[in-house]
Amino acid sequence: MSLRVLQIVPGTSVDGPGLRTSVYLAGCCHRCQGCHNPSSWDFASGREMKAEEVAEIVISHGFNMTLTGGDPLMHPDLDELEKLVRLVRASGLKTWVYTGFTYEQLTAHAELRSLLPLFDAIVDGPFIESRRSPSLPFRGSDNQRIIRPDGLVITEFDNPL
Ligand code: SF4
Repeated sequence: MSLRVLQIVPGTSVDGPGLRTSVYLAGCCHRCQGCHNPSSWDFASGREMKAEEVAEIVISHGFNMTLTGGDPLMHPDLDELEKLVRLVRASGLKTWVYTGFTYEQLTAHAELRSLLPLFDAIVDGPFIESRRSPSLPFRGSDNQRIIRPDGLVITEFDNPL
């Protein structure tokens, strides 16, 4: 199989600290009210790309990578997603992922739990419109956390991540 990629945006500053390349993967079932990107929900949207192709583009820009969407951790081909993240990390770049699952849900799921160490940070949980907090860095609502794979919640962004 392969990845379904909606968009690759190099040089963005809203999906994590510093300039990053955001990779938008298609598909999400969380259906959060007020979702920033409902057009990303369709798993059949975007275009098929192999992990190597996406990694080459990300690495060529030299920015740390953020996976977003959609929900990357709902992607039908998690093996291909894992390959992408491993290739990007092998080049020395850091990786973040946005997901509508909570950290607790991720750690309760064997396959998803095994992917967590591939990320420097996980931005977890659904967007909850009533808890929308535009002043929070890199999150839409205050239920969402920025968490290291070991569960430590990150609040300072002094060091590159
Ligand atoms: S998890 Fe993200 S992409 Fe999915 S519905 Fe919620 S806000 Fe939208």
